[in-house]
Amino acid sequence: MTTEVSPPLPLPNELTAPFWEGASKGQLVIQHCNSCGHFQHAPEPICSACLSFDLGSAPVSGKGTVYTFCIPTQAFHPWFEDKLPFVLAVVELDDQPGLKMITNIVNVNPDDVKVGDRVEVTFQPLGEGFMLPVFHPAAQ
Ligand SMILES: [Zn+2]
Repeated sequence: MTTEVSPPLPLPNELTAPFWEGASKGQLVIQHCNSCGHFQHAPEPICSACLSFDLGSAPVSGKGTVYTFCIPTQAFHPWFEDKLPFVLAVVELDDQPGLKMITNIVNVNPDDVKVGDRVEVTFQPLGEGFMLPVFHPAAQ
């Protein structure tokens, strides 16, 4: 007998809500400094470039490059047990040098993923209305 296991769901707060609200609409939205234009992820209460507290958020291109990745072989939450192996990656977004996010690479054989691969964002339903930004190989 199997029981339905719920995924670990986000708990949005004031800083992270724009990211999750954007994702639910199919947009990759990243924290953006209104003073200097710096993007930063994960969101912080202060701009790491100019120390401003005047932060907002803005959509980004959703295009990037695989910076590094691993292929987990153990599930540390029951929801992941039937998803192994998957690609856990750091993607550097095109919108700003050094702007990186932890994500998954999907729609690819994990053995085919390489550092430097071009990828594009897509969104996977998580449950309770949440959409998870993940990346797939970019069209050639
Ligand atoms: Zn700034």
